[in-house]
Amino acid sequence: MSEIVHKKPAAAESQFAYKNLKQGEFWRHVPAYREVDEATFLDHLWQQKHSIKTPEELVGTIRDLAPPEFVADIEAGFAHAPMAVRVSPYALSLIDWNDPHNDPIRRQFIPMASSLLPDHPRLTLDSLHEQDDSPVPGLVHRYTDKALFLPLNVCPVYCRFCTRSYAIGPDTEEVDKVSLAKTPAQWQQAFQYISERPELEDIVISGGDTYQLPPKNIELIGNALLDIPHVRRMRFATKGPAIMPMKIITHTEWLDAIAAIVERGRKLGKDVVLHTHFNAPEEITWITQKAMGMLFERGIFTRNQSVLIRGVNDTPERMAMLVKRLGHVNVHPYYVYMHDMVKGVEELRTTIQTATETEKFVRGSTAGFNTPTFVCDAPGGGGKRDVHSYEYYDRENGIAVYAAPSVKPGKAFLYFDPIDKLSPDAQARWIVPELQEQMIAEALRKAGAASEQLVLA
Ligand SMILES: *Cc1c(COP(=O)(O)O)cnc(C)c1O
Ligand code: SF4
Repeated sequence: MSEIVHKKPAAAESQFAYKNLKQGEFWRHVPAYREVDEATFLDHLWQQKHSIKTPEELVGTIRDLAPPEFVADIEAGFAHAPMAVRVSPYALSLIDWNDPHNDPIRRQFIPMASSLLPDHPRLTLDSLHEQDDSPVPGLVHRYTDKALFLPLNVCPVYCRFCTRSYAIGPDTEEVDKVSLAKTPAQWQQAFQYISERPELEDIVISGGDTYQLPPKNIELIGNALLDIPHVRRMRFATKGPAIMPMKIITHTEWLDAIAAIVERGRKLGKDVVLHTHFNAPEEITWITQKAMGMLFERGIFTRNQSVLIRGVNDTPERMAMLVKRLGHVNVHPYYVYMHDMVKGVEELRTTIQTATETEKFVRGSTAGFNTPTFVCDAPGGGGKRDVHSYEYYDRENGIAVYAAPSVKPGKAFLYFDPIDKLSPDAQARWIVPELQEQMIAEALRKAGAASEQLVLA
């Protein structure tokens, strides 16, 4: 018998770290959850009811875990945030309270005044110009064959970096929200518009968050869209599994409603899937694995869209870990977005260069179909662009120019790196308004010279 030669050295133990999901009753280290048993913690209604919305509720929950200086810091942070705050007990219990400042989950959901940076001078509230592409309330028709339906404006948590901070969540001291269509009667306009546009084959149902839609409305929306002959593909988008996986486990009617639409779709030859939004590897625990296993068993295909966030997943190692861990729980990594240019969260954005370097490392670390595409949703309404596909990138001044020939032909779209990530010289240039104009004009000129002539959108 010949001996097998292993030409490739055995994988190091560290290669398997993605399989080490948090186990046990990890929430019990939080003072308010010390007596909470597993059945209670897995109850989605308990999770919803105990989600914290104010600094007082937060302090009342974590009590002596909160370093004293932290309390004043978050009070000031809440007061200036463009988004309302809402954090589930699940997410709260995953935060490392010995170091809340650097914790990847704290960074996403709980604002701290001390870490805020000034907004980039070119930043606007609806940076994606979704309202310009909205024919009826709650519908965004930007690309030819697909549209985004926003049937509600509430979420099970509020992400500080939300693209739709112009509309999502209750008004805050900083922002009066635009209203979306929020009732079945108001949705009829969107259904009618979709039915009158035969090119619309693909509908994203987002929001807000489909986790907050009651089962009867999941079925109402799902069936209304399945009834439109030219609609071939649908996705229900939800942050839920990342921050409250227990809903899938214990809200049986909700899971049944999604499964019913997926099954009816399958019989009609239509593809209905779930899109979720995990950002940090720590969000995936044994509870997530159980929930995603239930989706898998019911034949509900799940893809993930992440946002590249500073201090959360912006290193090659952390992103590779997230990608491998998603695959491990049967979720397909689909996109990693550049953080949109939204208000009040500059310390969470990072550079196009960081994105391209991270992508280079992640590609090749697992199956190609589990390798996300890194995209920049071009400010100004150009839609998603492969981050590498810029016409021109001025790394020194942090200006990337994109074109979107099939979405807005002839137009140029600009993405700006956060200024604190630039060299001291470049930071000084951004202080001077005339120099800002010059840098932008120069980048556009170089981009125009590299392709056909482009005009700023
Ligand atoms: C992201 C998005 C879609 C879906 O785009 P895919 O690239 O197919 O995921 C559709 N409409 C709008 C407005 C979007 O922002
Ligand atoms: S879950 Fe999505 S829509 Fe809701 S706040 Fe977060 S990013 Fe915004």
